[in-house]
Amino acid sequence: MSAPTKRVLLAKPRGYCAGVDRAVITVEKALETYGAPVYVRKEIVHNRHVVETLRERGAIFVDEADEVPEGAMVVFSAHGVSPAVHEQAAERNLRTIDATCPLVTKVHFEAKRYAKEDYDILLIGHEGHEEVEGTAGEAPEHVQLVDKAEDVDKVVVRDPSKVIWLSQTTLSVDETMERVDQLRARFPDLQNPPSDDICYATQNRQVAVKAMAAECELVLVVGSQNSSNSKRLVEVAVQAGANASYLVDFAHEVDESWLDGVTTVGVTSGASVPDTLVMDLLAWLAERGYTSVDEVTTANEKIHFALPPELRKDLKPAG
Ligand code: SF4
Repeated sequence: MSAPTKRVLLAKPRGYCAGVDRAVITVEKALETYGAPVYVRKEIVHNRHVVETLRERGAIFVDEADEVPEGAMVVFSAHGVSPAVHEQAAERNLRTIDATCPLVTKVHFEAKRYAKEDYDILLIGHEGHEEVEGTAGEAPEHVQLVDKAEDVDKVVVRDPSKVIWLSQTTLSVDETMERVDQLRARFPDLQNPPSDDICYATQNRQVAVKAMAAECELVLVVGSQNSSNSKRLVEVAVQAGANASYLVDFAHEVDESWLDGVTTVGVTSGASVPDTLVMDLLAWLAERGYTSVDEVTTANEKIHFALPPELRKDLKPAG
């Protein structure tokens, strides 16, 4: 009997979302337009390769605005910043370009709106994640963070009839709904956000990985350890039936022993990952006999965001 054909199932959509694309192009265009150095507060997107490439081109990544020289230019990352960071930048006369993803800004608006209406806001998200810090910073007196299941019991609200949940954009859809059910068991009048806070890109990548995971003995997710949506893909792959799943930044990080006895490898990537890294992984797998690649398509994404207006006004017309 001949050995079963080794193959790859390649998820689509995968990789860059509209918010990441916009943020990366923002730094590239800022470097082209104003020259190096361009300071960037935090990693522009959570991907090692992207950050290293921009660093080589003259971007300087800092943790806080007070590390940027007075009067210099700073780009705020796709994950968003709190009003306190804008104030800090203004105090130092920094020229700012805000590359916050518009879908993160949408959640900021929700936090501001419901705080103004005096709601208690239960923000589901990961403690310490930059996005959560930025969103919570819009209304610190009204926001309580709910990360793990045990956090639900710690929530204290002033009026149980005036409570709303919001969320980080890059969570697992299923896990978030579990947390909402737990919260609703405590607060039956808990309101839903006006529209989904988990963004289209996070949701689409999870749907795609779910569609193929059960057929895969192994799912490899290209992405960085600090990328929330990439880590969620690993969890979703295992929950959806893959025997194992690992997160790797680069093809050379794959441990060959992971392929032992594996006929079908699923491949996907987080929303901050350029597709060239996925192509590198496919080439690496092909060298080990996984030459057949079938794309598993669950959605076609056509979303595009305009560059930040403060950058657009200085761009030379194309051509
Ligand atoms: S993952 Fe979603 S929220 Fe984050 S940058 Fe991409 S589109 Fe925006």
